[in-house]
Amino acid sequence: MKIFDGHNDILHKITSSVNPLDSQAFLVKGTGQMDYPRALQGEFCGGFFAVYTSNPPEVPTAEERMVLSDKGYHIPLPPPLPFDYAHNSTHTMIELMKKIEQDSLGGLKITTSIAEIQECIESNVIAAVLHLEGAEPILPNLDNLLDFYRLGVRSLGITWSRPNAFGHGVPFVYPGHPDSGPGLTPPGKDLVKACNRTGILIDLAHLNEKGFWDVAQLTSAPLVSTHTAAHKLVPKARNLTDDQLRAVGESGGVVGVIFSVNDLDGERRPKEDAPIAVIIKHIEYIADLIGADHVAFGSDFDGTKIPSQLGDISRFQLLVELLEKAGFSALEREKICRKNWLRVLGDTLRDEVY
Ligand SMILES: [Zn+2]
Repeated sequence: MKIFDGHNDILHKITSSVNPLDSQAFLVKGTGQMDYPRALQGEFCGGFFAVYTSNPPEVPTAEERMVLSDKGYHIPLPPPLPFDYAHNSTHTMIELMKKIEQDSLGGLKITTSIAEIQECIESNVIAAVLHLEGAEPILPNLDNLLDFYRLGVRSLGITWSRPNAFGHGVPFVYPGHPDSGPGLTPPGKDLVKACNRTGILIDLAHLNEKGFWDVAQLTSAPLVSTHTAAHKLVPKARNLTDDQLRAVGESGGVVGVIFSVNDLDGERRPKEDAPIAVIIKHIEYIADLIGADHVAFGSDFDGTKIPSQLGDISRFQLLVELLEKAGFSALEREKICRKNWLRVLGDTLRDEVY
């Protein structure tokens, strides 16, 4: 069964390597959790490809910043990214995406409308949706938002887990709550409206709770979180509470369930592994609460530690089998695997090109 996935970090993985524009590291053989040949094996038909800028080298690593207590751990938010740093890194990743598209000789396309996405899926071309994971490369007056739109960006997370000119991200804390700071700034509110006007999907993964509710109030599009899990099952700050999940469902939106072992199976210390069944557990929980129309996959391949039983994208179909065993009907499996993402993208993207 063809799968459209809510999140991967392959662009960041390759641009962080010695050869930042090495399209072959995706098209031929990668060293991580996904590449083109293994994506085909797993029946991956497309998904959101994240443009994620990591912290500059002078910022201590997450491990170095982690504060341990008897109850759990807390990784304080890193400082805001310098604009030029984020801007350069973003352009390198978009250049890599374009090089992958070109060198794939028709195997992958950067898609900018629902018609293009559907056409690609029908003709077995991987449909890539360019996603900015954090609005740092966008000027607070939004003057360059359309430049990114013209480069193909159709999805945008207002923040990663850090503050920026538009809002405040949610830190990695266990146990913790998403209500971790102030809501959107005035430019953040303008950005929501500009994304609605332009037809750019707004992603709530990594945004704190006040920011989440600000978007919920302002947006005219369905609410979307591309890669998160359920707070009720694992009380990590980054996971969505039942109230947030219900808001996503009521808006006609979707939650992509992340495969990160620490979000799905959190404990007082970060873990190395978890059984594959935890992915299904979160999908079942969300489907029971808000319906199978509002849950999908949001793997985070090449961006996180995933269950070793899954290993990589080539075994994606294992999850389809587990969904069947869990009692999801053929129609529900199709929705979770692909159709929910396509519905939300259809409701959000515009046909006209600016
Ligand atoms: Zn992420």
